[in-house]
Amino acid sequence: MTGLVWLALDGVGHPADAPPESVWEAELPALRPLVDGGEALDATLGVPGLPQSGTGQTCWLTGRDAVRVMGEHFGPHPGPTLRRLLAQEGLPARLTRAGGRAALANHYPPAYHAAQARRPRPGCFPYAFQAAGLPLDPPAVPPVSPTLGLGYAAPWPEQTPLADLSRLGERLAHAARTHDLIAADLWLSDLLGHRGRVPVPADALAAGRAYLRRVDALLTGLLEGGAPVIVSSDHGNLENLAVKGHTLARVPFAGAGLSLPPAGDIVAGGQIIAGFLGLPAAAN
Ligand SMILES: [Zn+2]
Repeated sequence: MTGLVWLALDGVGHPADAPPESVWEAELPALRPLVDGGEALDATLGVPGLPQSGTGQTCWLTGRDAVRVMGEHFGPHPGPTLRRLLAQEGLPARLTRAGGRAALANHYPPAYHAAQARRPRPGCFPYAFQAAGLPLDPPAVPPVSPTLGLGYAAPWPEQTPLADLSRLGERLAHAARTHDLIAADLWLSDLLGHRGRVPVPADALAAGRAYLRRVDALLTGLLEGGAPVIVSSDHGNLENLAVKGHTLARVPFAGAGLSLPPAGDIVAGGQIIAGFLGLPAAAN
């Protein structure tokens, strides 16, 4: 059991590519040194247009150049082509086929299941885990709300104490000892990033900083619990709240409790995660 915990941030560009006074200007004693000591990866893959979640997350989850497969940046949700790729070559499927144990820690409330029943439109992470025959809300893993205790709607108030996130991190680290991979799909950052405009909205900036502080607290608990951790992101967005859409910023790729070789871009980043889990490299 490799016991890896993967914090997959959605839409958080690297601080090196963020404008001054960004969300990264917050007290992040665990997260910021980790990200600064890691690598800033290209998410454009040489293709014009703004990177999107569908292709970006498929790159991370498969180690395949999903943008080249699609011929464009595509998202936010995976369509038939990306779904096929995720089902066949997604990390959860490959790990499960190899006899490993993977879990998605996200908590999906009843409203999510009701919405999916009306119109199935899963994101890459829930799709890839379910395609591998793995359940949402796995009973052996403490549930992680992707809002990390912030409200769903503006002004995204802090509804739980920060210390709860550290404790959750410790419990996740404990659960990771009986898994090869536990992933958390942390998407509130992308939702906040889409509130960007000029002048930078103070409520979204404050919520973005609060969200990163909560990632920091979760990470602190994970490290205290002794879990190896990888932090990644699929594309930029939240790091520049002066624009509404995604950005061309490079994205964080950092590991604690393990050493990561240089990746360069998010496809190689996905291959490195697979390699850490003992899976053979995908053929691009
Ligand atoms: Zn995204």
